[in-house]
Amino acid sequence: MRTALALALSLAACGGAPAVRPPDAWDYVVAPAPDLAAIDATVCFRSRPPPRLTTGTRRLAQFVSRATLVRGAERRPLTPGAHGVRLDGGRPGDCVEYRVDVAAAAAAGRWQDAARLGPDLLAAPDLWLLRPEKVPRDLDATVRFRLPEGLAVAVPWPRTGDAPAPAWRLTWGAFTLTAHAAFGTFAPTTLAVPGGVVDVIRLGDVRSMPGDAPERWVEGSARAMAALFGGLPFPRVQVLLVPTPGEGVRFGMANRGGGAGVLLLVGAASPPGAIAGHWIGPHEMTHLGVPVMKQSDAWLFEGLATYYTYVLQARAGMIPPGRVWEELHAGFGRGRSVGTGRTLREESAAMRATHAYWRVYWAGAAFALEADVALRRETGGAWSLDRVLAGLARCCARDERVRSAEETLARMDAILGRPFFAPRAARALERVDFPDVSPVYRALGLWARDDRLALDPASEVAALRDAIVVGSP
Ligand SMILES: [Zn+2]
Repeated sequence: MRTALALALSLAACGGAPAVRPPDAWDYVVAPAPDLAAIDATVCFRSRPPPRLTTGTRRLAQFVSRATLVRGAERRPLTPGAHGVRLDGGRPGDCVEYRVDVAAAAAAGRWQDAARLGPDLLAAPDLWLLRPEKVPRDLDATVRFRLPEGLAVAVPWPRTGDAPAPAWRLTWGAFTLTAHAAFGTFAPTTLAVPGGVVDVIRLGDVRSMPGDAPERWVEGSARAMAALFGGLPFPRVQVLLVPTPGEGVRFGMANRGGGAGVLLLVGAASPPGAIAGHWIGPHEMTHLGVPVMKQSDAWLFEGLATYYTYVLQARAGMIPPGRVWEELHAGFGRGRSVGTGRTLREESAAMRATHAYWRVYWAGAAFALEADVALRRETGGAWSLDRVLAGLARCCARDERVRSAEETLARMDAILGRPFFAPRAARALERVDFPDVSPVYRALGLWARDDRLALDPASEVAALRDAIVVGSP
């Protein structure tokens, strides 16, 4: 990147070509208070500062409690407002010091923004990393942390420098896509997985859970995911285990803000059996290998993750192979039971308002299953959805650009070398009813009567089912 830029600049200098503007460049030093009630930060600009600095979402700007422009020896107070901090006439070399009232943000009660978890703090970079209103694509930004004695930081970003002065690189996605960060007294457990490492961080009361069931669960999920995509799609994956009341895994989300992160809400009172093999692990891990897509195209990214949730559970040995078909059959039943009469395209776009999640997720899973089975049958097993997704992960998982489903499907067709996914999707998206899965059931030797499912033992269909639940070697 730097070499390319230097070359471009030198060409511009001797060739009379249009001048190449250097990327916007800025550096943070972030210092949480010892009691984690506030975060003090300084951002210094190597390029011209933007006219305004603000939080990732506007509602968080109220928690910026003070700001100062620092220019050499000069210090000028700035007034944080509802739209952030204005910096009129900023110059390269200027710095802005600011304080974020994290305790007040946590008291506001939206845990995704900030939550105090015993000795630890979960705090979204959206809250404490002030940024220009429009984040440039081409940027050169770093963050360093000044941590009080005994405190650690967990961020999902790539590290650029090692001790004693570690720094992390911030890409466009670090500012525009969701990420989570934690400060506290934790120590990560680093698990080696083919293609990279997974850092598991237990926050708050999750640390008092005995045994290593949470780590084994994350590792099993990550290994099955890495096997699907031909290696971990990111060199490092951050997994935050966040305590919640009750038992079991209550919620999960995969994040791509500048790196790969998975956040899992875990009942701190869970017995090990309530965590081991839970479906949310493979589900969220699958999201990390599929490109970032527009929210309105949830049918595709959630459909792929929903299909592979159970397939990966079986491949990881978390459930018996036969359970995959029972889970898919039950899920298709749930998908069929909801819906608002819209086409799948419209239902997917309106999902947040209509809450027709099951219809969207499971119609997408039916699309994935049908495509996988058709590909395997047409090519005698030479191609599968696994193989296409491994190619997709290689080209596009780390690309932060938010794609449409159309672009993603076109890329999948390019990997396969012929139109396959796009025409199938075009048909699926116009349906107002749930897909008819009976042809794919016949191909797999699945006999369904109401909610009961039987498996045809004939060798040809059994081999096809096995190929799916066992996966590529
Ligand atoms: Zn999902």
